Amino acid sequence: MKSLLTVAAILCFLITGCSQESDHADVTKVTADYVFTNGKVYTVDDAMPWAKAFAVKDGKFIAVGSNEEINALIGDSTAVIDLGDKFTMPGFIDTHFHSVAASIITAEFDTGDQPDNEGMYAKLSEFAATQEGRTEPLITYGWHLANFPKEGPKKEDLDRVFPDYPVLFIRSDGHGAWANTKALEAANITAETPDPTKQSYYQRDENGNPTGFIEEIPAYFGVYFPMIGDISVEWIEEKVAKAFPKFSSAGLTTVFDPGVLFAPNIPAMDAVHSYNMKNGANLRVSMSHYSVNQQDDFAAAQEMIDNSRSDDLFSDSIKINVDASIETGTGFLKEPYIEGSGYEGTGMTVFPIDEFKSLVDKSYAAGINMHFHVGGDAGVDLVLDSMEASIAKHGPDKARANMTHVMMTDPADMPRFTPAQTGASYSALWMMPGPSMDVNYEVLGKDRADAFYPAGRTAAAGGYVGIGSDYPVATTFPSYAPLDSIEMFVRRARAGDANAPMQGYDEDKLSLEQAIRAATINNAWLMNKENVFGSITVGKSADFVVLEKSLFDVPEHEISQVKIEGTWYKGRQTYASE
Ligand SMILES: [Zn+2]
Repeated sequence: MKSLLTVAAILCFLITGCSQESDHADVTKVTADYVFTNGKVYTVDDAMPWAKAFAVKDGKFIAVGSNEEINALIGDSTAVIDLGDKFTMPGFIDTHFHSVAASIITAEFDTGDQPDNEGMYAKLSEFAATQEGRTEPLITYGWHLANFPKEGPKKEDLDRVFPDYPVLFIRSDGHGAWANTKALEAANITAETPDPTKQSYYQRDENGNPTGFIEEIPAYFGVYFPMIGDISVEWIEEKVAKAFPKFSSAGLTTVFDPGVLFAPNIPAMDAVHSYNMKNGANLRVSMSHYSVNQQDDFAAAQEMIDNSRSDDLFSDSIKINVDASIETGTGFLKEPYIEGSGYEGTGMTVFPIDEFKSLVDKSYAAGINMHFHVGGDAGVDLVLDSMEASIAKHGPDKARANMTHVMMTDPADMPRFTPAQTGASYSALWMMPGPSMDVNYEVLGKDRADAFYPAGRTAAAGGYVGIGSDYPVATTFPSYAPLDSIEMFVRRARAGDANAPMQGYDEDKLSLEQAIRAATINNAWLMNKENVFGSITVGKSADFVVLEKSLFDVPEHEISQVKIEGTWYKGRQTYASE
């Protein structure tokens, strides 16, 4: 596949046939830049689900069909690529993927793939050994909450590996961090430093000194920003340049980035743009502002929208938090938390409901798509109510809404999704039993926790179901590979492990066809771009992947192991396997 990278696209149109003076009708022969033949092409287009071949011109599919039909588009300068009967499908889309944050915290290395501390320490030590003489701070990622006692890890354990320079090590769920002594010193975090909030704090010893464990983002940003110092566009770009090719290697061609977080919005956009200008974009990034307080946020979202650069890097959305998290008592529920759970009542919304509805209305009227963080079933209901009201007031099709995470949904609300121009992108990687699910059983009881992530029932009710990995945020299984999410949608069990236990109901599994749609055309719908990309269809962006084997020919627990052999974005190869 590597040789394809060197093939140059040259020719545009070849006009053959009659001159203008001729009596005959003009015969215009369009020829392709690239022709791909002999494939097992799964188009994800209902009009023709399977094809043998397709042709690409100016970054778009110009024909899809049989070898004979496509061969007719070969001209003198067309590059012809034999797919060798390989399974070929649309490029993967992830509609909840913190691409810039992931770049920043995983650029050097990460330990997210190490399930236990032994592997984690080994990887840390291996990296440290390559960094002789370093003074520059290190930010990395990937220790797991479940591998440490409640009071968290200690700075001394990180100091043993990294005695000489500041290190901030982000937890795999993104909601905590571990600092070494140098990092705490660099940020001047001492016994006197106040905690930002009750939920976001520096763990302390009996004398009030910080132990190195930091809970939640506001507190660890109190270390991160002083430790890193000024964040330049070049610094972000360097990280992007290291991480983005990894995303292409997993078959990704489009991501929706719901909040940069580790860098200011506009410099982050500048960095991705600069990288694209130098290297050619290897994936499409739609970025949104991460809403914290909605009145200022509308202006910040608008600023990002105004900074859209191209169809490779743009903003057309606002991210709005509906509720916070079910397991901390802050999900917005239809029925109360169970007695004895430590939580009372039906939880809460992040903003007062009136303010929330008015922000939805303002966004909808302005044609700004919405990305909702929502966990509880009352939160889903509120989104649907708000969208219905705005559609009734301003007319249909001004904007679309994507609810992300969506732990709970009242079955009565499922048929309301599509008429409300709203769909759901699930964090399929969270669909497995384990300590983070156990908390939900404790606070909601068996029936409601079993019914978590009701993807299958929502799809059966006509709702658009998509994939949002939330990478690098994870429960225990961080992964940017869409094949992991596809497998977990189908099995509701840890990807790659044939014996892993299942979470929830069989009826909430997706079929493989549905799971593939979730990662392609449905995610395009959730981005309000299903006419632009998401399937191998004439006129759409030529984004596709070639796999080692057909996903339909392997056992379900091997879906995640199928090798990506090549990724193409806008007809340009962005990844080739060795
Ligand atoms: Zn997220």
